[in-house]
Amino acid sequence: MSEPISFTPGSLDRDSTFYVAGHRGLVGSAIWRKLETEGFKQLVGKSSAELDLKDRNAVFEFFARSNPRYVVLAAAKVGGILANNTYPVDFLSDNLRIQVNVLDAAREHGVERLLFLGSSCIYPKFAEQPIREDSLLTGHLEPTNDAYAIAKIAGIMQVQAVRRQYGLPWISAMPTNLYGPGDNFSPEGSHVLPALIRRYDEAAKSSTPVVTNWGSGSPRREFLHVDDMAAACLHLLENYDGPEQVNVGTGTDVTIKELAEIVADSVGFSGAIEWDTSKPDGTPRKLLDVSKLSKAGWSASIGLEEGIRATVDWYRSNLAEIRS
Ligand code: NDP
Repeated sequence: MSEPISFTPGSLDRDSTFYVAGHRGLVGSAIWRKLETEGFKQLVGKSSAELDLKDRNAVFEFFARSNPRYVVLAAAKVGGILANNTYPVDFLSDNLRIQVNVLDAAREHGVERLLFLGSSCIYPKFAEQPIREDSLLTGHLEPTNDAYAIAKIAGIMQVQAVRRQYGLPWISAMPTNLYGPGDNFSPEGSHVLPALIRRYDEAAKSSTPVVTNWGSGSPRREFLHVDDMAAACLHLLENYDGPEQVNVGTGTDVTIKELAEIVADSVGFSGAIEWDTSKPDGTPRKLLDVSKLSKAGWSASIGLEEGIRATVDWYRSNLAEIRS
């Protein structure tokens, strides 16, 4: 039985309780900063040690206590290719449980606006580029992170099902590769950009003459600064409604080689950059089509070089505390 969706574009109430699930992560912390800057006064966040979102009873008790009006679900088990490929059960099972618990509790407590965050890996491995939202479920997934992707697809479906069954104007957004302050720079768990920053920064400090990277450097990838991502999330919550997930990216991409050069330049690495072509390259291109987001009135404003320089500064100032 479908109920009518009631959504009027406009400012969210700055005095209402806003729960940011995953508020200490890369994305969640940026959303928290953005909401603070925008004047939200009742922000709620819990670390995984304080509230394990896999614990259904604890999640329901938390929602009963805090009664949020708005929710962003930015809590997830997240990792790079190596972690995804090595621990697929954790990426599937943990993420399904986190999502189902939060979305069920939010539904029971009538949360008015909710944004579910997925990832561009939900799209088929050979989706036409740039990747449009309607390519979802039209082909096979990249096998190295298919377990994670299936969990995220289930989250999109749950949001759509809640809209159909309960008429709540919840939405989903699919970010491209994100980077920025608070990123994971650990050698095992990190994505390509923080991994490059760490490697080139260490090479610059130790005056290493050559840094060799995996693959040919020719694959093209898109990168969005997490502060832009946070701005996009608030924009969508205030201006967009619809069942289909919205891609969030810059609409432009660079080769990994260009990326490595920007990083090397940003950290002051003056040695040689080499490529080990005996190692696999991965998908040749991954770029999101962001026309739906543009139509909703938002576009990215932080350039890649500017964003990387700021991230390098943050990395250097926070070396002692960053996730290792
Ligand atoms: P992070 O790893 O930086 O942060 C994840 C957050 O989730 C942490 O705050 C962590 O809490 C919380 N969390 C994890 N497990 C639990 C749990 N069992 N109970 C409570 N909290 C938990 O991830 P990101 O910020 O990078 O990612 C957030 C979302 O954005 C994810 O859905 C991801 O798919 C999406 N995304 C990220 C991209 C990226 O490039 N980083 C790209 C595309 C999508 P704590 O710190 O307290 O342990």
